[in-house]
Amino acid sequence: MNTAEANDLRDLYQDLILDHGKRPRNFHALPSANHEALGHNPLCGDRLNLYVTVDDKGTITDAAFQGSGCAISVASASMMTEMLKGKNASEAAHLFEYMHASCTGKPADEAGIDEDDVARIKALAGVRDFPIRVKCATLAWHTLQAALKNETGAVAVASLGAEQSRPINKVSTE
Ligand code: ZN
Repeated sequence: MNTAEANDLRDLYQDLILDHGKRPRNFHALPSANHEALGHNPLCGDRLNLYVTVDDKGTITDAAFQGSGCAISVASASMMTEMLKGKNASEAAHLFEYMHASCTGKPADEAGIDEDDVARIKALAGVRDFPIRVKCATLAWHTLQAALKNETGAVAVASLGAEQSRPINKVSTE
């Protein structure tokens, strides 16, 4: 790939993030959800409720979110909810690992991941040049991990490492 092509791709990826940041997909409550979690990124003020419906075969049949945050956090949640539909928990975990590695500049294994999903994750992974934004991009994904471990109704907190995490029913206003 030459430099011009690389720049074109970078622009394309930025367009994808801007588009999803402005017009988030699956941005609503999800009455059918049987897993949910609250994610909060105190560094930026991003917060989101993630809703996931998993059927009895373990397939994610629907995913949606609500909340507010910067364009990157919203775009990441929007793209993630699109990617999740039709995947099972281990495929979702594989996506999370790929996303996390891509955003932190670690070797990322694309094997078995849809081309479309790779493109979207590469767009989000542009944040690795801006360490403070990595938390914004990975917030939805950490929240997903928490949601898949928790049934609706449980007190769920997003796993944000050493950072502060909050009970699901106490959302701070930024
Ligand atoms: Zn943010």
